[in-house]
Amino acid sequence: MGEFELIDRYFRRPATRAPLGVGDDCALLAPAPGSHLAVSSDMLVEGRHFLSTVDPARLGHKALAVNLSDLAACGARPLAFTLALALPRADTTWLEGFSRGLFALADAHGCELVGGDTTQGPLNICITVFGEVPPGQALLRGGARAGDDLWVSGTLGDARLALEVFRGRPVPPGGFEAARARMETPTPRVALGLALRGIATAAADVSDGLVGDLGHILTASGAGATIDTSVALQTIAESNHFTMGNGNFDASFALECVLAGGDDYELVFTAPPAARDAVRAAGQAADTPVTRIGCIDRAPGLRLIDGAGQPVPRHFAAFDHFA
Ligand code: ADP
Ligand code: MG
Repeated sequence: MGEFELIDRYFRRPATRAPLGVGDDCALLAPAPGSHLAVSSDMLVEGRHFLSTVDPARLGHKALAVNLSDLAACGARPLAFTLALALPRADTTWLEGFSRGLFALADAHGCELVGGDTTQGPLNICITVFGEVPPGQALLRGGARAGDDLWVSGTLGDARLALEVFRGRPVPPGGFEAARARMETPTPRVALGLALRGIATAAADVSDGLVGDLGHILTASGAGATIDTSVALQTIAESNHFTMGNGNFDASFALECVLAGGDDYELVFTAPPAARDAVRAAGQAADTPVTRIGCIDRAPGLRLIDGAGQPVPRHFAAFDHFA
């Protein structure tokens, strides 16, 4: 199978929203008149971002999900994406699964594949997404203010738990398949991002762990924050994934996964206390749980406290590809 047959067979579908899709030198997009185009790229490298054994349909889902998550964090509505793909060989089973997982998520979000590039090489997947947002309404990292509440969507830590099991940690009873699905098929919080426009003062998606991604909000906003770790733990304790063979909840490991795990693709965001009802309504409208885990402070830095307000020591660092 040649390059163009591969593209035609697995990636070319008639454009429905875009004026021009796959097949010409450029694609043409038609964002709503006057709207800003929101653009983001994310690359997935074998061995770095995924295991070579992962199900290709799940990989197709994840490659797009991590990009849609960036649009969600900005409150942008997905429009289209491009796919730059390096493949060691034209493996039809792999391509069939990958494109199926990719298009299932794309269709669920009305986000069209409009172009890309295909080349031979070590497996590497780079997607660029395009979204639209009305001028002035994008959720940015720099808007958090002292006194704002600190919120997260969904649950955190499961992807890290699954990764640790792949690295040899004993498998927790019951929770592993669910944690693995969270790692391999994350849910981009697009509907929540849209519902938080005009409500959240700042937002980011949690790709490198809560502490790290919240850190970006704090730096951009010139503020600090306090996280109540007892509440942070409750957001995942229900899932029971961190209960070990002896029935004990491993709180220290769970806290590390929640605060520094990475690969969660939830949203961390801030909003004034007066907007609590509006935030909860946005969560309900988006069918996405939201949990208030702390507050934004004037003093820089991140403080962790327990349920009694006492400081909790930190024994882990934020994720950094080059650290
Ligand atoms: P060019 O020579 O202009 O770079 P290519 O020959 O690489 O274009 O690709 C031909 C067409 O197929 C272009 O419209 C391109 O956007 C599209 N395309 C290539 N690879 C992919 C892919 N993996 N997914 C979707 N579209 C692709
Ligand atoms: Mg090309």
